[in-house]
Formats: sequence, structure tokens, C-alpha cells
Amino acid sequence: MELRARTEGVGRMTLATMPEYDSTRLERVGSHAVVIGASMAGLCAARVLTDGFEEVTIVERDSLPDVPAPRRGVPQAQQPHVLWEAGRATLEHLFPGYSAAVLEAGGVKVDGQTEFNNYSNGDFLANGDRSFAIYSATRPVYEQIVRERVVALGRIRLRSECQFTGYLLDDTETTVEGIEIRTEDSDSEQVRADLVVDATGRTSRTPALLEYHGYQPPALDEVQIDAAYSTTFIQRPADDHRAFGALAEAPRTRGGVVAPVEENRWLVSLHGVHGDHPPTDYDDFVDFAASVPATEIRELLEEHPPVDGEIHHYPFAANRRYHYERLSRFPEGLVVVGDAVASFNPIYGQGMSVAALEAVLLHDVLATGGRVDAGLRFFDRTMELVDIAWTMAVGADFGFPETRGQKPRGTTFFNWYLNRLLRTAHSDGALTDAFVQVLMLERPPTTLLRPSVVWRVLKPSGGVRQALHRQVEGTVRR
Ligand SMILES: Cc1cc2nc3c(=O)[nH]c(=O)nc-3n(C[C@H](O)[C@H](O)[C@H](O)COP(=O)(O)OP(=O)(O)OC[C@H]3O[C@@H](n4cnc5c(N)ncnc54)[C@H](O)[C@@H]3O)c2cc1C
Repeated sequence: MELRARTEGVGRMTLATMPEYDSTRLERVGSHAVVIGASMAGLCAARVLTDGFEEVTIVERDSLPDVPAPRRGVPQAQQPHVLWEAGRATLEHLFPGYSAAVLEAGGVKVDGQTEFNNYSNGDFLANGDRSFAIYSATRPVYEQIVRERVVALGRIRLRSECQFTGYLLDDTETTVEGIEIRTEDSDSEQVRADLVVDATGRTSRTPALLEYHGYQPPALDEVQIDAAYSTTFIQRPADDHRAFGALAEAPRTRGGVVAPVEENRWLVSLHGVHGDHPPTDYDDFVDFAASVPATEIRELLEEHPPVDGEIHHYPFAANRRYHYERLSRFPEGLVVVGDAVASFNPIYGQGMSVAALEAVLLHDVLATGGRVDAGLRFFDRTMELVDIAWTMAVGADFGFPETRGQKPRGTTFFNWYLNRLLRTAHSDGALTDAFVQVLMLERPPTTLLRPSVVWRVLKPSGGVRQALHRQVEGTVRR
């Protein structure tokens, strides 16, 4: 009871409690919808909007490649992108055959039980009994497949090299009726729509545009972590599917991740927080890897040649979350999704999964109440999901005393409990299973407070038990 009370602020919306995606539930709610941004959140939103709108237009400022390739508008694409089960299962619902397509594109099916090695609190977590798979690939592969499937749906017009510049509101400034864009051929063009979805990521201009149109902008939560990622690729034997994760955790500011990806490569990524940034030179990179506790990461770098020796660097200053759900006034005809609402320290790799789950919630919001008040109803529905990802990411960040920002309620207690759980999971695979399901957004963090889990976490360890026993014996003898 006490444990639950201390973490009551943490949401419960995950894959386990998500409404089932059924395309037929959404009847026609409008004739034209516009999505701004053709990355993961925008593409997933566009997919569900085709169920309720005659036509959907996606507006994207980049020119879009025909093959999986990094692009300017998604600068994080060179960095590791793990697709957790909640995201994979949701993408599979939205785009049947998605997981198989990842493998066809060269992605690797990692046996999560035996090939995914997770280091935390001083050792690797024990293998659990639950078997699960991780479909591992580079970020451009995940996005390319979604983009191809969205385009194949028909009824979607994908307009690349179009820059969104502003919203068109009605005379009373209460309803968004479309957007303004700039293309190579025109200074400005108006695109009318019954619903506009902002999926422009961290650089979203919606807060500023709301203010411009006389609305209160959403409150911004920023949690400063001053992190950076450096990533390279090394050659991998085709049948070696091992993956490693040894994330920075207080007081250790450095961490690393290794993931098998397409073209028989391992993606090796190192990170550091609070200014302890990984280098951009290959030799220094290998040295930095030696300071990450899972020695396997350095060994892999020494034993397997680099693909091209290039290091891709990405600074990540702060977690950012706009509290749209706290607004009481918001224009009709507008919804904001994905990183445009919240972008978390990617250390826990949740952004793509949150984007996919949000699309299912957007579908549900439209299916249950049509377009009326869709924005505020959507923010209300997604709040718990965003809460979970946010709480986990910034919770880990607040393990470091240097972290600045608003600490969610219950963080200190939850960190203490989670660290104890992870230490116990070095020898108790049932706890590894419980933790991984939370990590993968399959189940809410509150499941870690079930009596069966709490008992395993809090029961005295062998050493403590013996010490207690000795103390009791001593007391009795005296
Ligand atoms: C270093 C790093 C590592 C990450 N690792 C993981 C991971 O392991 N797992 C995971 O699930 N997530 C990870 N993420 C998060 C993930 O990348 C995002 O959550 C995911 O891409 C969803 O973002 P989005 O679609 O909302 O926005 P974005 O991916 O940022 O895309 C925004 C899109 O909008 C377009 N755009 C922007 N402005 C305009 C405009 N004015 N007009 C037209 N188009 C515009 C951009 O070109 C882009 O295509 C990571 C993020 C970072 C930074």
C-alpha cells in the first residue's frame, strides 16, 4: 500500500492496457487531414488517419530517400535505436508484416533471453524464464519500412521538401483550418484540412504559434542532463547476435550500447552525461569504451575491425516535455504527437514505441468522439503513457545530483527500489523478466510493486539473512 502510494503519480498506460487497434472502428470523421513531419510519429499518425479521412497529406521538409539512409531532419538517425516490444507489436498491428520486413531488410532477431546482455548496478542481469525477441536494425530501416507501407496504403500524399511555416485559423481563432507551407516552387502555399497533426519533433513551433494566436502555450518541463552519444560500426560475424547494454547510472557517468544490425555490423555507441562526453576520434573512442564496465564492449572493438572508422556524435542537452494536457483552451482541428510533446533522454530507447502507441490512442480518440475537442482529449489520453516514459528517463537522470529540473514525485524512492531490484536481478531472473517488460513498455512500472516482485526485492539477501541470524543467535546466547 505504502509503495503504491509513493508512486501513484506514475501512469499505467502501456501495451498491456492499450485499446486494440481495429481500423474499422473509425468511421469517416473528415475529408482531409494533414500531418506535418514524416518521421516515426508522423507516419504512424498518418496511417491511422487514413481510416477516418478520405485523404491524408504528409508534409515533410526533407527530401526523402528511396532506401534506408540518414537524413537531415532526423539527425539522431545515426545513433542506436532499439525498438522495444511495445513499439514492435504496435507497428505490427498498424502495418501487418512489419517485423518480417525488418528482417528482410537485414535486421537481426536477437534472442532477448540469451543474447541481450544487460549490465546494471555492478553486474549483468540474470537470464529470466521468459523468451522474447528484439528486432534490431538501424533507425533508417525502421523508418523506411513504415514510410513504404504508408505510401502503399494509397490515399496518402507524401509531399517532401515542403517547409511548414504556420497554422491557418478561422476568424475567431478557435479552429485550425489548415497550414501554410513553403516549397521550392512557391513562396507560400495554403493547405486546407479538417485536422492537422504536428509531428515535427523536438523543434516543434506549436508552443510559439499558440502564443502568436492568443493562446496560453503549454508549460515546459526541462530536465538538464548534458549528455552526448558517439556511435560507430564494426564488422560482425553473421551468426553472432549478441547485444549489450551498460547504461550510465549514478555515480558512473559513462555507458555503452552494442546492437547487431544489418550488413553484418554491430552498432557500438558510447555515451556520457553531465559533460563527460564520449570522443569523436576512433582510438579515443576505444579508450573511452575501456571505462565502461561491461568489458565485452571494449573486447568487441578490439577483436572486430571498424566498418569505416567514422564516429557519429550527437549531443543531448535536456529532456523536454510540453504539458499540453494541462491546457484548458486549445484550438479545434489540431493535435500534437511524438517528440513534439515530449522527448526523453534516449538512454531507455522509448521514443519510437511511444510514437506508435500514441497513434493507436489518436485512432481511439477519433473513434470515440470524432474531431470535436480531439486535441485536448488526445493529450488527456496520452498523459499516462508519456508519464511512464518520462518518469523512467528522468528518474534515471535524477540519480545524478548534478541533474537540474523538476523531479517527478516519488523519484528518489523509485530509484532506490529499482536499484535494489536490479542488484537482486543479478541472480534472480524473475526480476529481470519483470524489469524488461517495464523497460519495453509492455507493462507499467507499478507491476514492479506487485507483492510477488516486492517480496523478491526486499527479502533479505543470503548475506543479510546470515548476519541477522548471527545477531539473533548472539542475542539469545548472551
Ligand atoms: C540520440 C537519440 C537516440 C534515440 N534512440 C532511440 C531508441 O533507441 N529507441 C527509440 O524508440 N527512440 C529513440 N530515440 C527517439 C526517436 O528518435 C524519436 O522518439 C522518434 O523518431 C519519434 O520522433 P518524432 O517522429 O516525433 O520526431 P522526429 O523523429 O524528430 O521527426 C520530426 C520530423 O519532422 C520534420 N520537420 C521538422 N520541422 C518541419 C517543418 N517545419 N516542416 C516540415 N517538416 C518538418 C523533420 O524533418 C522530421 O522528419 C532516440 C533519440 C535520440 C535523440
